[in-house]
Amino acid sequence: MTSFAPDFRAADVLPSPNHGARADDCRPDIILLHYTGMTSEQAALKLLSSEESQVSSHYFVHEDGRVVQMVPEALRAWHAGKSFWCGETDINSRSIGIEIANGGHPAGLPDFPDAQIAAVIELCRDCGQRYGIAPERVLAHSDVAPVRKVDPGEKFPWGKLAEAGIGHWVEPVAVSGGRFFQRGDQGQPVEALQSMLSFYGYNIDITGEYSEQTEGVVAAFQRHFRPALVDGIADSSTIQTLHALLTSLPRFD
Ligand SMILES: [Zn+2]
Repeated sequence: MTSFAPDFRAADVLPSPNHGARADDCRPDIILLHYTGMTSEQAALKLLSSEESQVSSHYFVHEDGRVVQMVPEALRAWHAGKSFWCGETDINSRSIGIEIANGGHPAGLPDFPDAQIAAVIELCRDCGQRYGIAPERVLAHSDVAPVRKVDPGEKFPWGKLAEAGIGHWVEPVAVSGGRFFQRGDQGQPVEALQSMLSFYGYNIDITGEYSEQTEGVVAAFQRHFRPALVDGIADSSTIQTLHALLTSLPRFD
């Protein structure tokens, strides 16, 4: 692909050949955040721009806050893979993908520098305003692909984004004791938990059995919304945080 004018004014352009048309000319209504999971920014950029990799994203945010655009927003970048949110499975057609340079879990979850997060906030605000994207549709890759993906990880500062008006967030309820549900449990409370997660958007079967899938979705939820403890066990802090998020959704009426 030849070069193109960036959609975000502050972006440099490094075209990636890995893209196609958005299905049904979808306008993006999700912003999907990733970490690269690589310690070398240059290696990550090379991967995202080489045809063999078959992966790309619309944007790449360096640790120092520089932003690179790799695919025009009008086109479908290849970052989400097999994924699901609120009944939709072609998340690439519906989203703007942002890769954030960070070593991630393989590197022991390094902090995201302030300059990088400031750039992510500015980029999300710009895309969000241009497309009218709802706050609750600024998501983690792990939200749309639980178990399979863990990025951008539990160290990603969703609370800081929320302070800047980006994303849907409530202060997580503190981890404490109390009743909890875990793998192997079954019954109405498990069904209620599954229903709440499904209503929020996660891909979860409402069976009343605390399955491997349920455990994975609970862990994905914790990674984004209750990052102090990511263990896939639905303790009261997890359930109360989920309940508070749901009741603060604009579509919850
Ligand atoms: Zn990802």
